[in-house]
Amino acid sequence: MTAEIISVGTELLLGNILNTNAQYLSRELADLGITVQRESTIGDNHGRLADFVNEAKSRCDLLVFTGGLGPTADDLTKETVAACFGDELAFDEAEWDKITSYFARTGRETTPNNRKQAMVPTKGHKIINNHGTAPGAWFEQDGHCAVLMPGVPHEMKAMWTESVRPLLMERQNCTLHSVTLRVLGGESDIEYKVRDLLENPNPTAAIYCKTSECEIRITARARSDEDGEKICRAYAKKFYDMLGDAVYDENVAGLEETVVHTLQEKGLTIATAESCTGGLIAQRLTSVSGSSEVFGYGFVTYWEQAKAKLVGVDPAVIEKYNVVSAPVAAQMALGAAKASGADIAVSVTGVAGPTGGDEVRPVGTVYLGAARDGVAYVKKLFVSRPDRALVRARAAQAALELALR
Ligand code: ATP
Ligand code: MG
Repeated sequence: MTAEIISVGTELLLGNILNTNAQYLSRELADLGITVQRESTIGDNHGRLADFVNEAKSRCDLLVFTGGLGPTADDLTKETVAACFGDELAFDEAEWDKITSYFARTGRETTPNNRKQAMVPTKGHKIINNHGTAPGAWFEQDGHCAVLMPGVPHEMKAMWTESVRPLLMERQNCTLHSVTLRVLGGESDIEYKVRDLLENPNPTAAIYCKTSECEIRITARARSDEDGEKICRAYAKKFYDMLGDAVYDENVAGLEETVVHTLQEKGLTIATAESCTGGLIAQRLTSVSGSSEVFGYGFVTYWEQAKAKLVGVDPAVIEKYNVVSAPVAAQMALGAAKASGADIAVSVTGVAGPTGGDEVRPVGTVYLGAARDGVAYVKKLFVSRPDRALVRARAAQAALELALR
């Protein structure tokens, strides 16, 4: 099956909002094994939208629309697509009841233009919106289909997962099973190693890159969940064979989740001492539910005095080696473990930039420390792009990696 995604809304063309719907739908359609051939954005203009739909209709099997289902005059997706698909809209009492009771519940009154939202296809069918007032619509003509969903992202996603995705899966006569591998390393390196595995019709495998790591999502279409699982596992093994230990976990949101779970399993606690990351590591750890079992203390020691006072860094060591140095990172980690009583501690001291640094320690130079049982391990990281957010993100990521060792 082939598809095109059409985002409707002048605000998208003006750059006022980011088209997150198209990204979400591209990924979802790919998972279903539906080939997305084009993504387009059209303003709220009847003529231009009609011209576009008439052309696009013949190019593919499925047109997926978001936006323009609201009650205002510029919301005209439904009327326009209905006409292009030779359908007519009719007033739907049940939808109108839903809309009026929704307004009553929220203490508002409907206006005449709200009736527009209760208009539904007569040849095609409406799609229930459980999270808003605008129903979606499904049109079909000569084997070509159009599905219309609201623009508001959470309404669109709910309608997609609750109604549209199951409908498309039924048409394709399949179930879906996915596994997500989390892999440490840079994009080009990982992609180079696994590129041959990324071109596969079923299961599909796609790579999504984040800071210093990638996510590989394997999705199998099968007749049963059991078969899907088997197909996914067999394909995942090929990635493990190629990437080895770089695959650090499956189906987790990020490295912090793996760190928290690993420490829970081992019965260990962790503390942090952060300088240039300013609490980013602590933030990531505490974003994981259940992290209080393993994390109790995070020291943000930005000033030299703070490093001395909170985690016992010797000012003479700072004087001798510089505040951004391996001995200081080591002392920060050892001091954080001691001050908190945690089993292990990680530390970061570096030059996040874009200003500062010197010949010896240019912007992007970071020292990371990890301490356990009174022994410290230190690692140097250099981020060549002088981008403050990137340096901080990569430093936090590297510290979490150290926590796993
Ligand atoms: P409403 O009933 O709110 O008018 P609608 O279906 O008519 O819904 P739009 O008016 O097109 O949808 O969009 C409503 C809001 O949803 C926009 O202001 C915007 O914030 C968000 N939105 C719309 N399209 C997208 C998109 N493609 N990506 C991300 N957000 C979007
Ligand atoms: Mg609208």
